[in-house]
Amino acid sequence: MTIGRTVYLNGNYCPVEDATISPFDRGFLFAHAAYEVTSVYDGRFIDLEGHLSRLRRTLEGISIPNPYSDEKWAEIHSDLVDRNGMEEGTVYLEVTAGDYGLRDFAGPETFTPTVFVYADARPLIGDLARDGIRAITLGDTRWKRRDMKTVQLLSQALAYRAARQEGAETAFMIEDGLVTEAASANAWIVDADGKLITRELSHAILPGITRAGIVSLLKKEGLEVVERAFTPEEAVSAKEVFTTSSGAIVAPVVAIDGKPVGDGRPGQVTRRVQRLYYEAMGADVAAVAPWVLG
Ligand code: PLP
Repeated sequence: MTIGRTVYLNGNYCPVEDATISPFDRGFLFAHAAYEVTSVYDGRFIDLEGHLSRLRRTLEGISIPNPYSDEKWAEIHSDLVDRNGMEEGTVYLEVTAGDYGLRDFAGPETFTPTVFVYADARPLIGDLARDGIRAITLGDTRWKRRDMKTVQLLSQALAYRAARQEGAETAFMIEDGLVTEAASANAWIVDADGKLITRELSHAILPGITRAGIVSLLKKEGLEVVERAFTPEEAVSAKEVFTTSSGAIVAPVVAIDGKPVGDGRPGQVTRRVQRLYYEAMGADVAAVAPWVLG
């Protein structure tokens, strides 16, 4: 992770050390804020429209006016990539309900947002995509509107800390005996018949942009995707398990709660999904991910 030195704050590009916000900002006091993380590969954005459309829905859901048109958002994203000379990584944006010099729960009738955007250079197709990650399972303690991408991320931050303590890289969150999703990714399993299964969209999970891209690529390939919830037991005994997110794209899960998934190595279906998505990103898979070619 290399945070680009130039960031965007409320209409200005400035060095990261000059980007300061008020301690009375509602993002800081109440986690009253939306965010998005968009992948950049070879200098191009992956489905920025999808992220901006989800941002619109989240902002509407949490009563914050969208400060910019999609064109303006796209311009800020491109400017940050250019100014920081970034080829590969992510662009993070956050829109909070702003600062009113008060800690007042309801706040003013109309919010004037704080906007912060930065670029983060890092490989999207790296060692973890090749070798896989380990997951733990734990209870999903998040609020009920997980379909909105807000910065209420305490449950996930604690889940990552618990995972690290157990020698794992992620956590699968469980509610009512079913996996909702991973701490910051959608969860997928491949059953004994090779069928791909991922939880259906609802308020319980984030509608991942990567998930949507993969569902549509798989459908185009004529591969069946079953959208239904699955249990942690199904995940542990699945042939393959993987997660999808903008930051890690497709990450094979090779162990859950210390038990190997399949033979403990990334499986063939996961490799196929990686290959399809990497190719759609415009990656030269023979050069950057030869392991997907089997
Ligand atoms: N689910 C959760 C809880 C997340 O935080 C994320 C990404 O941060 C995802 C799923 C994957 O979403 P996307 O593919 O849009 O990055």
